[in-house]
This record gives sequence, C-alpha cells and structure tokens, in this order.
Amino acid sequence: MTARAATSPFSARMAGLRAAMTERGTDAVLLSVGAELPWLCGYEAMPLERLTMLVVPVDDDPTLFVPRLEAPRVREQDGLFRIRPWDETEDPLRLVAQAVGPARSLAIGDRTWSRFTVGLVGLVDGARFSNASELCGPLRAVKDGHEVEVLHRAGAAVDRIAAALQAGEIPLVGRTEAQVSAELGQRILAEGHHRVNFAIVAAGSNAASPHHEPGDRVIEAGEVVLCDFGGTMADEWGVGYCSDITRCVWTGEAPAEAVEVYSVVRAAHAAAVAAARPGATGKEVDLAARRVVVAAGLGDHFVHRTGHGIGVEEHEDPYIVEGNDVPLVDGNCFSIEPGVYLPGRFGFRLEDCVAANGSGVAPFTDIDHDLVSVDA
Ligand code: ZN
Ligand code: ZN
Repeated sequence: MTARAATSPFSARMAGLRAAMTERGTDAVLLSVGAELPWLCGYEAMPLERLTMLVVPVDDDPTLFVPRLEAPRVREQDGLFRIRPWDETEDPLRLVAQAVGPARSLAIGDRTWSRFTVGLVGLVDGARFSNASELCGPLRAVKDGHEVEVLHRAGAAVDRIAAALQAGEIPLVGRTEAQVSAELGQRILAEGHHRVNFAIVAAGSNAASPHHEPGDRVIEAGEVVLCDFGGTMADEWGVGYCSDITRCVWTGEAPAEAVEVYSVVRAAHAAAVAAARPGATGKEVDLAARRVVVAAGLGDHFVHRTGHGIGVEEHEDPYIVEGNDVPLVDGNCFSIEPGVYLPGRFGFRLEDCVAANGSGVAPFTDIDHDLVSVDA
C-alpha cells in the first residue's frame, strides 16, 4: 500500500514537459513559486522577495537559480537540474535572461510574482510569454499510480476525521465555529498532513455561504454544521498532495424539510459519481448532478461547479463544470461536491474526491453519506 516508487518520478515528468514544449514550440519554461516547481522537481520555492526560478530550455539542461542562503535547502534529484546560487549583489533576473538567451517563446509559471514577470518582459525583449499551466496543467491532471496512492492516503486521513465528526467525537454545540475549525486543523496535522489548507465550519444559516469563514458564531442545538476541510500530505519525495472532504451533520433531529433538501444533494452526488468515468466529459458529470437538483426545483441554489481536480493543488485540472468538453482519462483525480444553499436558512454540500479508473471512479473518501444526527 505504501511501497516507495523505485525511482523518482521527476525524470518522467521532465520528459513529458519537454515533449509538450516541442509540440507547442516553446523555447523555455520558467517556474518560480507555485505548485509546478515541486511537481516537476521536488523543490518548493520560498515565497519571498528573492527570486527562485527554474529555467528549462527545450534543448539544454535545466538550471535552478536560487538565493545563496536558500541553496542548502535544495535536494538535488538525480542530476535533474544544476543549481546556480546567486549572491546578494547579483541581479537574478539578468542571470535568468542570460540563460534564456534568444528564446522567442517563453512559458512562465502562473503564480510567478508580477515584479519578476514584468522585469523579465523588459529584459528579454520581443519574446512571447504564455502561462506554464498550458503545458503543465494537462500533464499534472493525469496522475501516475504513485500519485493516486498518495491522494488515497491523504483522503483516508480526512475520512477518519469525518468519521469522528459523525460519531459525535468532535463536540459541536456550545462551541464556536472557529473552535471546531481549529480542532479539525489539529486533527488534519495529527493524521499526517504537514499543512492545513482550510477547515470550513459553517453553522445554521452560515452554511448557505459555500466558502464561509468560521467565526464567533456559537453552534446551537437543532441546526446544520457543514464541515469542509483538507490539508497537504507529503509523499516520499517531498511533494505535497491535497485532501478535501465535506460532510454535514445536524445537531439533534433534522426537520423533514432539511432531510428532503439533503436527499436531493445526496442524489445529485450519487448521479455524478455514476456518470464519472474515463470518456465522460467534465461537463457531462456536472450535468448529471445538476439535473437532479434542477428537477427538485432547487437549481437556482446550486451556485457552483460540481467539482475540481485535486493533486499538488487543492484546485487544478480537470474542472467538473459546464463548458469542459475534455473527456476524462484514467488517472484524473477530482472532487464531486454538489451543494444546495438556501440564504438565511441552511445549506448542504456533500464532497468526495475520486480517481478515474477503468470504467468508473474510485473514491478517496467514502464515510457515511447520510445527514448524520449528532447529540445536541
Ligand atoms: Zn472541500
Ligand atoms: Zn473541493
């Protein structure tokens, strides 16, 4: 279950990137902060004012430009790139521009700070810049077996926390949303993640706000508590993979109307899971969930897409949304999370992440899908 890959995955990723660069006529890829750099080579740039940038020329060895004081953090990966530490008195953008040379078509990491991008535009006059996600996104969206296994591991961890929530082991009534959120965060770390990404706790009418910020609201008896949480768990190579799950519980016995609305969300979730398989498009999976909600007369209250890809980022390709006509393939990993939100009253969402696999999907989380009653 946790067998370590015999060789690092990075050589294959670099080869895939080079093939995509050749196909698109990209002369060099420039990666700084963001998820692409760790995905490609296992190193995560510090998000500071000193530039870290990996330059990958299409026909030459990659070079990682890194502040000298951060160079000791870099783990060399089988000669994947050479390190060029830069000193405080050097201008790292000029070093990058020199490495780029006469390149005309450059792809730069989407999260690169604009101060660096703007500086480079001035130094490599006439080059055409594009987003590196155009190259990396489709590659990252198809996980290899090792990545799927790590995502399963992270999913199993948050599944256990959701089980504790449903079992009433996480006290709710009388505590604030923020206190419960903090406990979820502690449990996310205790379960082996190295980072808490978010822990939404939304009680009562706050659950009608899909991205509610947990606050001082005290949880009462007789209301919904929506919990949507996840973290990042590192694999053997130091690359972090995300978990993400949503479950709703009711403090006490839920009233009939709430049970009825919840049953629509649950049916929409099941319909999307049934529709999700290699060959189906993101749009079709979204529609499968949406059709159920619309048929129940609640279509106006399902205000977001059905899901998002998950991997080294919480949200990445493929998106399960109207307009995405790209067929799913084996190795795509994504969330299925329909929701219904009734402003001023309550809201429900049900979320699992899954891997497209064979003729269907394998879920990373599968704890009880019911609107579980917890002791008030
Ligand atoms: Zn979520
Ligand atoms: Zn999600």
